[in-house]
Amino acid sequence: MQQKIRHVLGLSGGKDSSALAVYMRDRVPEMEYFFSDTGKELPETYEYLDKLEAFLGKPIVRLNMDSDSNRNRDFDHWLDVYKGLLPSSQVRWCTVNLKIRPFEEYIGEDRAYHYIAIRADEDRVGYKPPKISSLPNIQPKYPFKEDGITKADVYRILEENGIGLPKYYEWRTRSGCYFCFFQRKSEWVGLLEKHPDLFELAKAYEETPNKNAKTDEQFTWCQGESLAELSQPERIAEIKANTEKALAFKKEDKPNLRLVEIFTDVLDDEDDEEPCLICHK
Ligand code: SF4
Repeated sequence: MQQKIRHVLGLSGGKDSSALAVYMRDRVPEMEYFFSDTGKELPETYEYLDKLEAFLGKPIVRLNMDSDSNRNRDFDHWLDVYKGLLPSSQVRWCTVNLKIRPFEEYIGEDRAYHYIAIRADEDRVGYKPPKISSLPNIQPKYPFKEDGITKADVYRILEENGIGLPKYYEWRTRSGCYFCFFQRKSEWVGLLEKHPDLFELAKAYEETPNKNAKTDEQFTWCQGESLAELSQPERIAEIKANTEKALAFKKEDKPNLRLVEIFTDVLDDEDDEEPCLICHK
C-alpha cells in the first residue's frame, strides 16, 4: 500500500506564514499546522495564534511543549544544555534545536509536503531560501511563489479574512523570541516601551555571567551595544529620530503605501543580515 503523504505548514506568528495558512485552508483541507514554541515569544504572538486557530478550525500543534510530562524543551532548557552560552547570529543553536529538529521529529519518517511562505516578490535573482530540513522525505512547496503572491497580497489576504496583522506590528515587524538578536534597534526600543518586563528579562540574560566564556567580554543581544546602554534616554531619542527620518523619507518616496507597509519597508531596509526564515516569516 502506498504511504500517505502528510501536508504540513509551520506558523511563526508572522504575517507571511499566517497568510499562507489562510490561503491554504480550503485548498488543502487535510493540512496540519504547527508552531515551534520557544517559550519566549511575545504575548501578542500567542494571542494571534489563538485567533488563527479559530479561523483555521483546527488546532495548531505546539512543538517543544509537553504539557503531560511538564518537561518543556524550550529556550531555557537548551540554554542549560549549552551551559549558559547565549545564541547569536554566529552561534545559532536556537534555530537548530528549537525549530529545525523539533520539526524533523514531528514528521519522523513520514513522507510530507512542507508548505513554505516565500513570496513571489522575494524570488529575486540569487535569492536562495534557506534549508529548513535536509530530510529527503520532506518536500518543500512554495504556493505563494507559484501563484505570484506578493507582500501587498499578504496584507489583503489577512484583511479580507478578518485576521489582520499581529498587534506587535505597531512597533515590530517580526515574530520570534522577545530577545531575538535579529531585532532592530528601534524594535528593542519598542520592546522597552510596550513590554518593560520582557526588556528587563532580556537585559538579565545579558548580565548573567557565562561561566564558560573565554574572555571577560560581556554578551550583548545587539552587536556592540548592551541593553543597558540602549535604554539610556539620549540613545532612545537618537534611535527614534533615525526611524522617524527613514519613515518620512519612505513616505515621500512611496506616498501610496499605508503606514504599516511603510513601517515594514523601513525596518526591512535596516537589516544588514538575512533574518531567520523559520522564526520570522
Ligand atoms: S526568534 Fe531569534 S532567538 Fe528565537 S529561536 Fe529564532 S533566531 Fe533564535
